[in-house]
Amino acid sequence: MSKKKKSNLANNNKGGSTPPKRNWVMVTIYTVAILVLGSMLLRQDSKASSNKIRWDKLEPILVKHHYSKIVVVNQEFCEVYIKPSIIRKDSAYKDLVVKNLMNQPIPNAGFYRYEFVTFENFEKDLARVEEKTGERIDLTPEKRTNAWREILVLFGPIFIIIIFFVIMNRITQRQMGGGSGGIFSVGKSTAKMYDGKTPTNVTFKDVAGLEGAKDEVMEVVDFLKNPKRYTNLGGKIPKGVLLVGPPGTGKTLLAKAVAGEANVPFFSMSGSDFVEMFVGVGASRVRDLFEEAKKKSPCIIFIDEIDAVGRARGRAGLSNANDERENTLNQLLTEMDGFSSGTNIIVLAATNRAEILDPALLRAGRFDRQIHVELPSLEERKAIFDVHLRKLKLNKDNTSEEYVDRDFLAKQTPGFSGADIANVCNEAALCAARKDHKSIGRQDFLDAVDRIVGGLEKRGKVLTDVEKRTVAFHESGHASVSWLLEGADPLVKVTIVPRGQALGAAWYLPDERQLTTYEQMFDKMTSLMAGRAAEEIFFGKVGTGALSDIERATKMAQSMVVYYGMSPELGNVSFYDSTGQADMTFTKPFSEKTAEIIDKEVRRMVEEAYARAKQIISDHRSQMEQLAGQLFDKEVLFREDLERIYGPRVGEQVAEAVAEQIPAEDTPALESDTNLPNID
Ligand code: ATP
Repeated sequence: MSKKKKSNLANNNKGGSTPPKRNWVMVTIYTVAILVLGSMLLRQDSKASSNKIRWDKLEPILVKHHYSKIVVVNQEFCEVYIKPSIIRKDSAYKDLVVKNLMNQPIPNAGFYRYEFVTFENFEKDLARVEEKTGERIDLTPEKRTNAWREILVLFGPIFIIIIFFVIMNRITQRQMGGGSGGIFSVGKSTAKMYDGKTPTNVTFKDVAGLEGAKDEVMEVVDFLKNPKRYTNLGGKIPKGVLLVGPPGTGKTLLAKAVAGEANVPFFSMSGSDFVEMFVGVGASRVRDLFEEAKKKSPCIIFIDEIDAVGRARGRAGLSNANDERENTLNQLLTEMDGFSSGTNIIVLAATNRAEILDPALLRAGRFDRQIHVELPSLEERKAIFDVHLRKLKLNKDNTSEEYVDRDFLAKQTPGFSGADIANVCNEAALCAARKDHKSIGRQDFLDAVDRIVGGLEKRGKVLTDVEKRTVAFHESGHASVSWLLEGADPLVKVTIVPRGQALGAAWYLPDERQLTTYEQMFDKMTSLMAGRAAEEIFFGKVGTGALSDIERATKMAQSMVVYYGMSPELGNVSFYDSTGQADMTFTKPFSEKTAEIIDKEVRRMVEEAYARAKQIISDHRSQMEQLAGQLFDKEVLFREDLERIYGPRVGEQVAEAVAEQIPAEDTPALESDTNLPNID
């Protein structure tokens, strides 16, 4: 790798890095030091313990006067030196004979070590021997220190503390992505830096669709490249741009593409990277990040998932646990104020939840520009499929049924995000591989879509005939009522093959509406209650399978009454709190009496929807039986099957006539109606 290329690498090792070789040298030095110290101590000890004797062996030595001298060490033990002439003569002392390299015995080398319990006891024992022999036994006292042990006692704890810090440092370093300085640089920013020439491997070509967002982001890049063009007229370059949108819509991808295209330094960091276990680290990292950025101006700072630090302040409740996050946010606010628009730093941030961000962050002069990255439309989905299909081995035979047509795939995936589409492509490849296909076919994609929407197919889940028939009528109820009510979503597919947690499922294409009327919401509630209504009409009893339907219908009624002011009893009042402050209070924003009215109204709405669903099903009894019968046999039915039974859907004849002139408009979310299996 050339020198130039090396300098272009993502700069994550600020402050210089320690070469691995040096680390090894240090590790070797530590190990050798520990081994030497340990072995010396051991040697001392082993030497001391080798010739230990007890009193019964020492007493005859003293009585026979075989010793030359007795040295009392530190009043802890004594060393009894045996006369060399006796060692040579008397085989009882052969354990004291030490031989040199020429295998000749070395004289004067042997002594025994005797450890007494107390020196006073030892003196008494000696006195007894003196009395017996009539000879005085001379003792030579000696004070001895073990230098190594002293060193260990003195420096051991310091050594352990140093090792502890070295290990902590290494761990912190590793957690921070390998940057040098470890624990001492914990307050340094961990942002990855792309210096404009570094390839991020992502360009705008990899970001399909999102034309509006791409244009806006390109404008940001242009601000940095040609600031004069804007400032000449007295305008100011924006400081912050917020990418807002549902998960997986390509916000991070877009930011990466900016890095790839901008040709200016690009600092990338995630909101959660600011948060560390140490207090004050977040704020310090923000400071450091902006300092680094100022040095490299003009440049872009990208903070992904900014809600991790940018959540509205004062939401800590009683615990004050959010102090650290608030400090970090305050620092971010200060820094964004701190640089003048002449500094040419633009902060790009991404979040799924702009509504929970602190208002101070969104005010003019900070993240005042918001780029909305929405779920892709039909055309955008086609483009995203193009990007991801490029890498796959597809069935290219357009005469075959298995031919993969991206237009068809895009139509089958309304409401899917870019990440979902990438997942479908991957899942399809896995499906094909599982079946040993040579290339990926249309059915593999359909299976992948089903699996992503409804979960894993569970053919192994055995239903009794009665259960299967109940599920067939339940799902036919949903399918029929949603087909017959204009405000409900049209059906795409209905199945009684168990998938994930559901025993059956009906999938719809919701209309892309900006405004929803009371009638449309009520139609939806009616189709949700239709599953249970069908069970009651055809079997005379209801089961637990409708849990999720009832839950959704109840929540819908609640929102109609409490938020949208759609209850005639309650009138046009809304208890919705867009500031989120109400979450922190324990009290309800309404009186007990109002709570009773809410309960009554919610119950009335759900019951009315249920009665209406029962009425519709009773009016179409024979068609319902036909549909449920087909579903029981085939297990999967599509909208064409419904059309054959019920005729074209209400309001769709008109829509079709208009569609001939206008290109087909897209519909957003594919909703799956998942019914939980029997739950007690
Ligand atoms: P989140 O908010 O959850 O972080 P995000 O909006 O940042 O999600 P990305 O991480 O950018 O989503 O997207 C995830 C993956 O989805 C990308 O790596 C890419 O494969 C795919 N993807 C999303 N949008 C697009 C697109 N417009 N074109 C091509 N691929 C896309």
